[in-house]
Amino acid sequence: MQVSRSLFDEVMVPNYAPAPMIPVKGQGSRLWDQSGREYIDFAGGIAVNCLGHCHPALVSALKEQADKLWHLSNTMTNEPALQLAKALVDATFAEKVYFANSGAEANEAALKLARRWAKNEFGEQKSQIIAFKQGFHGRTFFTVTVGGQAAYSDGFGPKPADIVHAEYNNLDSVKALINDNTCAVMLEPLQGEGGIITPTAEFIQGVRALCDQHNALLIFDEVQSGVGRTGELYAYMGLGVTPDILTTAKALGGGFPIGAMLTTTAIAKHLVVGTHGSTYGGNPLACAVGLAAFNTVNSPAVLQGVKEREAVFREHLQALNAKYNIFTEIRGQGLLLGFALNEQYQGKARDFMLAAADEGLLMLVAGPNVVRMAPSLVIPLDDIHQGMALLDKAVAKLVAKA
Ligand SMILES: *Cc1c(COP(=O)(O)O)cnc(C)c1O
Repeated sequence: MQVSRSLFDEVMVPNYAPAPMIPVKGQGSRLWDQSGREYIDFAGGIAVNCLGHCHPALVSALKEQADKLWHLSNTMTNEPALQLAKALVDATFAEKVYFANSGAEANEAALKLARRWAKNEFGEQKSQIIAFKQGFHGRTFFTVTVGGQAAYSDGFGPKPADIVHAEYNNLDSVKALINDNTCAVMLEPLQGEGGIITPTAEFIQGVRALCDQHNALLIFDEVQSGVGRTGELYAYMGLGVTPDILTTAKALGGGFPIGAMLTTTAIAKHLVVGTHGSTYGGNPLACAVGLAAFNTVNSPAVLQGVKEREAVFREHLQALNAKYNIFTEIRGQGLLLGFALNEQYQGKARDFMLAAADEGLLMLVAGPNVVRMAPSLVIPLDDIHQGMALLDKAVAKLVAKA
């Protein structure tokens, strides 16, 4: 059967608006579409393809597990799930792991656990959840309501209750809301979708202290910032602040769907048998690939390589801006980077992304004013240089039209 982009509009629910081209093959940081046109990939499947496309370690883990065992259900456990859980526990503050299939599901588990913990330890009244404007935590009804853009949760009927929003990097706005009935404060230790906002040390340490003062749990959503993205294994490690619950997904599977919630034994004990679950959570295929991705990323060479590549990206971006004067600042950390467009190009992030795609370079946006990149953590330097040359061409055309 001949597949074309128009088939999407014919058979798919219209909640996405995908690009006109259809990629059919990927290798490393390169993609090819149906007509054989090549693209350099700075988008990385939105911070998912942490080792690029078809990394040999992931392909072989998947193939090996495919011949052994695909699925059991959680009436039984399996070796890959326990191996990945052990790797996560060994590498982080956590003592216990719950597996899900996505970021939203990991966050849903985190929020339900926090509510259950608070109810059991302190009583029904301790249910308030504080989250942040522009924050993003997924699209289930609970997580999207905790997220900081009402537009995403409006229009679906009554929302989950007792969720309030403070301003990111504004400790006073948290102080004004937090009290002894606060059950949890949830945040991204590097806001992704909201425009790539780095937390200040004062803010992140202040939030930790406020949580301690009011017996509230601190939940870090590291779905986008985790698994090497910032150059640390998890962003919290570079901040000197440890959460009570951490969620991880996206890069954890390197392209295979998986999510996980990490926490301590004392908190985890409240999710007793029957309180929560998922048919596919801990799936052997997902965990086998996840283990290969996690072990590959969690090495000094890969993590140090992220910081080296960040420096190369920043140099290219500075040169681009010196030439065309398009942005006010570079945002982000490691290989979650963006540039915030200046006054002249407000609202035009999407135009930059589309112009780059026309030249054969895949980029992302983070809101209307920020052009974002989340490439493979092991992207070859040559692909960075060539991709940036394509971006230069795209920007030259765009600026000429403006
Ligand atoms: C992408 C993302 C999610 C949602 O993950 P899904 O796998 O799409 O459910 C949650 N939180 C953050 C910070 C994200 O970037």
